[in-house]
Amino acid sequence: MPVGEGMLTRRSVMGMIAIVPLALTGRAQAMPCGDPATLSAAQKSMRKSLGFKSPAPDPAKHCATCAFFTGKGVDCGPCALLSGGIVPANGVCDSWAKKG
Ligand code: SF4
Repeated sequence: MPVGEGMLTRRSVMGMIAIVPLALTGRAQAMPCGDPATLSAAQKSMRKSLGFKSPAPDPAKHCATCAFFTGKGVDCGPCALLSGGIVPANGVCDSWAKKG
């Protein structure tokens, strides 16, 4: 049976199956920084107790320049003070310490 335009081939279906998990993974990683409403109650409480703000009012003091931020060249990354919780690079809290 000839394969015409608009028909799905086994190869095209396999390609789609390979792409879907990558798209979902990217979405899952983007969620903690993109939507604070998705944080757990413990994460919200910790951020509140540390006076976390996003974006930071002082452009020189933000998570990306903090010693506790372990993300590398990304918009979001783990904060060691928040037990590895993900924070946006442009946020800041009262415990900001200059990266050495
Ligand atoms: S300690 Fe505060 S300023 Fe530093 S990375 Fe964590 S949340 Fe950001």
